[in-house]
Amino acid sequence: MTAIAFITHHDCTLHRVAAHHPEVPERLSAIDDRLLASGIGILLSHYDAPLVTREQLLRVHDAGYVDWVEASAPPQDSDTMVCLDEGDTVMTGHTLTAARRAAGAAVLGVDLVMSGEASSAFCSVRPPGHHAERARAMGFCIFNNVAVGTAHALAHHGLERVAVVDFDVHHGNGTEEIFRQEPRVLFCSTFQHPFYPFTGTEKETPNLVDCPLPRGATGADFREAVLAHWMPALEDFRPQLVMVSAGFDAHREEDMADLRLVEDDYAWVTRQLKDLADRHAGGRLVSCLEGGYDLSSLGRSVGVHLDALIGY
Ligand SMILES: [Zn+2]
Repeated sequence: MTAIAFITHHDCTLHRVAAHHPEVPERLSAIDDRLLASGIGILLSHYDAPLVTREQLLRVHDAGYVDWVEASAPPQDSDTMVCLDEGDTVMTGHTLTAARRAAGAAVLGVDLVMSGEASSAFCSVRPPGHHAERARAMGFCIFNNVAVGTAHALAHHGLERVAVVDFDVHHGNGTEEIFRQEPRVLFCSTFQHPFYPFTGTEKETPNLVDCPLPRGATGADFREAVLAHWMPALEDFRPQLVMVSAGFDAHREEDMADLRLVEDDYAWVTRQLKDLADRHAGGRLVSCLEGGYDLSSLGRSVGVHLDALIGY
């Protein structure tokens, strides 16, 4: 069996913002606890996330934006908090390093599956990335991790077709903005609508497959959307690599949103994507953690996601 890579870094747990903020370091601990309790952890190959390079960031972010984020970052040993948007996206002393590790994890994941050292990879990182646009931080996201990994696959590994699939409850507006005019990328998403960030329903370019789901939608509704819209487009596209924006905040135990998915739905969609990767991409799949704020359901959902990548 080829290895499943699990990529994380202690630095990602040092980024902590205000006490009431839902995007907490304990999210990663909940995943680690689940891996220990279930025994999956010993089946994975563990890697430390490297720091992303400026060159890798500039494939998807404007230089002026990267400069602004770096200049905004408080010193590591200070208690200063700097807000990058209307209040959701906050930097403290350790945030810049955490964000560089989170994006670097996606790059390492791509390198591992492209070299064959791993068949697939999961990046257990924070801050998340899919709301970050070329020149805008928002929704807890600073650098768009999955986009940085995708652009690395195109630019460094020379791939011509990369699928980015996003099942977070929130629309991945940043990923969509970055790749809207990039025919080498097919972006498929499901998300609650109308809901933050209130994007994803304008029919734009053919490489975007957006599936809004109404408040209260169940796993059956989610599976129907995936089978009716994502899978035919993905089969036609024949991706050479599957990137996943893996947010688990559509779970029915999640307070932040109003969809009703359960662990079985995450296991099911992961098997769909793994089978797709097996058919077209030599099994290559890189999954990046996005949302998921209820710690118990987050841990369980990531557990079944990894089970399905392993092939259970
Ligand atoms: Zn989300």
